[in-house]
Amino acid sequence: MLKIGARIGAGDRTIDLSRTVEIHEAHYRTGTLTVAPKFVEPNPEELTRIKAEIALKDKVFATSAPQPLWTGDFRAPVHAPPTDSFGTRRMFNGELASIHKGMDFRAPMGTAVHAGNSGVVVLARPLYYEGNCVVIDHGLGLYTISMHLSRIDVHEGQHVAKGQLLGLSGATGRVTGPHLHWAVRWQNAYLDPAKLLRMDLAAVR
Ligand SMILES: [Zn+2]
Repeated sequence: MLKIGARIGAGDRTIDLSRTVEIHEAHYRTGTLTVAPKFVEPNPEELTRIKAEIALKDKVFATSAPQPLWTGDFRAPVHAPPTDSFGTRRMFNGELASIHKGMDFRAPMGTAVHAGNSGVVVLARPLYYEGNCVVIDHGLGLYTISMHLSRIDVHEGQHVAKGQLLGLSGATGRVTGPHLHWAVRWQNAYLDPAKLLRMDLAAVR
């Protein structure tokens, strides 16, 4: 059993968002993908870039706003079919195994990608694996991350409203083809975005 969540507000206007959850082992599938060799065996120069980007992301994920920046329920970032791929174990080019920590939407090249909720853009730039990437801080350690974009239409430090255009989907970074990878990070763990989209957050406004 684990107690998660937060109390928000001030004085007698506080909302308790904590829940007690039972934790069970999950069973996920394994998939095999083929990507450009540089994404499986990066050269020393690429490794230096990857390390710098890890440090950058650590910094971004360590400085969430202390209050919620979102209001109400989250919305899907694109009008495209989602795939049930969270937690899938993946082999890249028959070697590298990694766990898929997001949701892939079958978005054709150039599909408009929207903010799932309001927040602040804390990262908006090209990254090695993620491609053109936009990270929104929604506060209290909750982030949504859009990857592999063909175009970024927001800048770091910008406040965005729910549904605001972030950019266009694409196939940049480690991909096998155009799609939107959408990840949800909550207090240093990746959650299944499908679960966030089903949550009733009407109390937060
Ligand atoms: Zn993905």
